[in-house]
Amino acid sequence: MLTKFIETMRQRISRPLQYYADICVRCGACVEACHFYVASGNPAHIPAYRMMLVKKLLQQGGNGRGILDWYRETGRIDDQTVTEIRHALWECTGCRRCAVFCPFHLDTGLLVNTGRYALLQEGLGMEMTAEIGNAELSKGEIVDALKEFYVEQVRELEGRLREEWGVPDLRIPVDQAGARVLYVPVVGEHAIIPLAKIFHAAKENWTLSLFTATNHSYFVGDIPKAKQVAHWIVDEARRLGVQVIAYAECGHATRTLLQYFDHWFGEELAGIQRMSVVQLVAQYLAEGRIRVRPGTFTMPLTYHDPCNLGRNAGIYEEPRALIRAVATDFRELTPGRELNWCCGGGGGMIAEPDMLEVRIKAGRPKVEQIQRTGARVVVTACENCKTQLADLSERYGLGWEIKGAVDIVADALVM
Ligand code: SF4
Ligand code: SF4
Repeated sequence: MLTKFIETMRQRISRPLQYYADICVRCGACVEACHFYVASGNPAHIPAYRMMLVKKLLQQGGNGRGILDWYRETGRIDDQTVTEIRHALWECTGCRRCAVFCPFHLDTGLLVNTGRYALLQEGLGMEMTAEIGNAELSKGEIVDALKEFYVEQVRELEGRLREEWGVPDLRIPVDQAGARVLYVPVVGEHAIIPLAKIFHAAKENWTLSLFTATNHSYFVGDIPKAKQVAHWIVDEARRLGVQVIAYAECGHATRTLLQYFDHWFGEELAGIQRMSVVQLVAQYLAEGRIRVRPGTFTMPLTYHDPCNLGRNAGIYEEPRALIRAVATDFRELTPGRELNWCCGGGGGMIAEPDMLEVRIKAGRPKVEQIQRTGARVVVTACENCKTQLADLSERYGLGWEIKGAVDIVADALVM
């Protein structure tokens, strides 16, 4: 057991991970930074301990056998190690809050990403997340066959919205060559409706992607697959000749778009700008391309910085600009921005039914900081955060209304 895990880790250990393994000085500055550890008290949730566990497994004796085998033979290690390594590598949202507190910025998120892939080879994985990743990969191969059905669904939605909003010239273009903006949604019409309204008001020349932004292979550290899934979208952008790729409110996907695409695709992206749709809508507002009714939201409202938009991609100001344009009682979280607590719903955990309880527990620091603001509405800009915050609200009996940053703009829009 764990032989494949050890082999895979050895093959994939990168220089930054080696650096982590070598220079962690056990100072403990990361311990209380992790919401999993704060909520559980389980040592396997301590960021530095996660690395220690992996390092222990990678250190082999001179006879070429794994230390785990040796431990097993001598009775010094048992299934507890396997349990610990699963807690350590699966129960992490990759939020990188620990890296901010670490004096060397050692990145447990990177360790977890690599370690998850290695555990999957062992059959000890987040199988559901990996399967969704495989489905996203397959979609690119059969997208032409799916296109007709998808376009039909979009036309039906377009007709319904024209009637509901009394806007007969509303359009939801799909696969439109020559569009300026390629909008890549997440699954579900809730990710299309507010943007259809905003793009119409901004008179944007846009088109809806045939794909979705989500990339579950990234969550399980399967980088070749994650890259291929993202490449379907780059291909689409080039085929249509767009100038901008805008991703829906989706944290991990936005992080890949802004931080991985250059490395993955290089010159293929020449002339194509990439941004979160939150940034794009903030641009419209700043340029006067859309108008909103100030004071549409008067109840206490707060903003949860999704880790992958805030801490991991530096998008702090744009969502706040949207909120200030439409709300009168905006209350910041403390600690906020770079030090904001993760909600506990990232890292692919939402897709795994078995992980519901652990994420509800890990969300406790988030619950407490939102409660301190007295907010009734919680705005955020990530699909996983929205699901997690809704689950937290329900399970802790809090009655919050959860809204996307673009949703509140759409609600306040002057058409
Ligand atoms: S990345 Fe986030 S969840 Fe993972 S160990 Fe660090 S603080 Fe904890
Ligand atoms: S803060 Fe950094 S150096 Fe200190 S124990 Fe944690 S990972 Fe190691």
